[in-house]
Amino acid sequence: MSTVTMKFGGTSVGSVEALSQAASIVEENAEKWDRLVVVVSAMSGITDALIRGARTAAAGDDQTYRSIVSELRIRHYRVVDGLLTSDGERADLLAMIDGALDEYAAFCHSVYVLGETTSRAMDTISSMGERINARLMAALLRRRGLRSEAVDATELIVTDNTFQNAVPLMDATRQRVEARIGPMLDQSIIPVVTGFMGATEEGITTTLGRGGSDYSAAILGSCVASDEVWTWTDVDGVLTADPRLVVDARVIPVLSYSEVSELAYFGAKVLHPRTLRPLIERGIPLWVKNTFNPTVPGTCIVGEPESVPGTIKAVTAIRGLSMVTIEGRGMIGVPGIAARTFAAVASQGASVLMIVQASSEQSICLIIPTEMAEPVMAAVEEELALELARRDVDRVWAMDDIVIVSAVGWGIRGTPGVAARVFGALSDDDINVIAIAQGSSECSISLLVAAGDAAAAVQQIHSEVIINGTT
Ligand code: ASP
Ligand code: MG
Repeated sequence: MSTVTMKFGGTSVGSVEALSQAASIVEENAEKWDRLVVVVSAMSGITDALIRGARTAAAGDDQTYRSIVSELRIRHYRVVDGLLTSDGERADLLAMIDGALDEYAAFCHSVYVLGETTSRAMDTISSMGERINARLMAALLRRRGLRSEAVDATELIVTDNTFQNAVPLMDATRQRVEARIGPMLDQSIIPVVTGFMGATEEGITTTLGRGGSDYSAAILGSCVASDEVWTWTDVDGVLTADPRLVVDARVIPVLSYSEVSELAYFGAKVLHPRTLRPLIERGIPLWVKNTFNPTVPGTCIVGEPESVPGTIKAVTAIRGLSMVTIEGRGMIGVPGIAARTFAAVASQGASVLMIVQASSEQSICLIIPTEMAEPVMAAVEEELALELARRDVDRVWAMDDIVIVSAVGWGIRGTPGVAARVFGALSDDDINVIAIAQGSSECSISLLVAAGDAAAAVQQIHSEVIINGTT
């Protein structure tokens, strides 16, 4: 028996045209697969708007959320008017939209009165778009003669209570999915499940973090034992580089789970970072496909790294970073300075993207988001006050406008000369490399460059190493 779980992201369900296209895709695939589970995001921009309404309400603004309600009403009504006009369900759907938006307005009003919002409240508020959209999509599918029913993931995905970034409890989730979704699939009913959200054991709504619908699809795909999970988006697949920087960026046909994780880590907005976990456990392949160009195959992400030695598959850039350097000759051979430095960094809640220490031990460099540079430097200076006074540590300083450029590909592993080709490409264009790191997974090489050099660095690596390296 073949099973597929497919998720439609915000732009794939963001307009009348997109929703109708998405419904066609489901209709077509309903014939090809025995069992089909659909997961939907909110229409594009809706989650942002919902959050903005609640935040402004918390800040004492009683108007913004009201105008957001009107905007959202228009956008969702348009779908009903465009696709479900003569439908017997029309009145119910309009009432459903009104009901959800009234609830949203009531929540925002309470937030306004209280003058604050909690992360728990934000989860209920921000997942409203998914709730509406799942019902619209299920109605659209019924309209096309398919059997379909919307299901709130609060009934399925059991999570801990880390609001806004909840962690699924897989065993409990599996049981719920088997009990609720299993019978639907057996009767060839297509469940349309809300992405992004879940609920605690007690039934309090949680969300899986922004962009979490991918993760929802992976969790559900694993629980229904899908043969494949597909995520429908608005690009042809995972690209070799950001097309805004590189005009001839191409679709990567096959990537391994680790390559995709590395890409996500290094700033490519590919998938919600935890998406792969449930898939890896069961070896389920993930396809990234384009709703608006459904005949191109897209990118397939699989467990076994299939790669040509020496090839690099993609290049990314992360901007907005600073390099904090702790330097001093007195650090040589003194144990514990690195540990204390990192403890000080952690005390500020800063996530460190990259660490560089020269073997002479005269400096430790940390790459962190620029907004964390001031607090991190202050915390490190406080921790190392004694060393600074004794001049064992000379200074703690930051360099802003740093970019990490990463070349990613399993083919880097154990292949000599890849780094040389990357550096060769940069020196051809006189780009100065501030520092270098290679992860021990050997799946990526990262370089630090000045912000002004980032675009050129990405373009050089793309043309000289990726394109020329594969042809
Ligand atoms: N609608 C949610 C968001 O914008 C979840 C998703 O799109 O995956 O973050
Ligand atoms: Mg989205």
